[in-house]
Amino acid sequence: MTLDNTRLRIAIQKSGRLSTECQKLLKGCGVKLNIREQRLIAHAENMPIDLLLVRDDDIPGLVMDGVVDLGVVGENVLEETLMERRATNEPADYSELKRLDFGGCRLSLAVADDFDYQGPQSLEGKRIATSYPWLLKRFMDNQGVKFKSVMLNGSVEVAPRAGVADAICDLVSTGATLEANGLVEADVIFRSKAVLIQSGTALPAGKQQIVDKLLPRIQGLQQARE
Ligand code: ATP
Ligand code: ZN
Repeated sequence: MTLDNTRLRIAIQKSGRLSTECQKLLKGCGVKLNIREQRLIAHAENMPIDLLLVRDDDIPGLVMDGVVDLGVVGENVLEETLMERRATNEPADYSELKRLDFGGCRLSLAVADDFDYQGPQSLEGKRIATSYPWLLKRFMDNQGVKFKSVMLNGSVEVAPRAGVADAICDLVSTGATLEANGLVEADVIFRSKAVLIQSGTALPAGKQQIVDKLLPRIQGLQQARE
């Protein structure tokens, strides 16, 4: 299975919180998919569309580097990648086609339930564990609070109990994970939903036509769900 450059390439999360909704969205647009486990690429059977099934963290970069034409990703991951790429002078062009109605969550500061939190200032000089160092730094800079970032790509919520950090900055939807770890949400720093993004470089006419066909269908699906 290889990629054919005349087919529209769309990157979606392989498995995780966005995968089911992404596949549902494409099916709702009439795209017939045959997704097999362990495969990186899935070809649509009835349209010139190829899907790339990847980790969500890789999606903004694949779009910004023009490796794929479209991608669906959380704004949290998009914004974090954008800030990192801008800081390191890597390509960061893309356009947002649609904010989607799934993948809702918030990036929040959380502290142990016995921590006397009086606002971001309470975290002055503290260690904060996160997978989102750029979003966290932007928020804390705006608040004028200095802190130390502890980068963790997983198990962020156990960091305070493990003595690795004084607080965390992590994604929350219901708050159940925080509660299970003896943490309380202290401040919301970013609200996120999934978005459909397109690469910054103009698409060949044939591919753009497919995008122009998909977009109103997505619009229609979302309106029907409102
Ligand atoms: P991957 O293996 O693809 O890297 P992951 O573990 O990083 O997966 P998921 O937990 O599947 O990612 O979350 C994917 C996205 O879903 C998040 O970046 C976020 O935009 C969204 N999301 C919605 N609700 C939540 C939640 N409660 N916790 C985490 N992410 C959420
Ligand atoms: Zn991820």
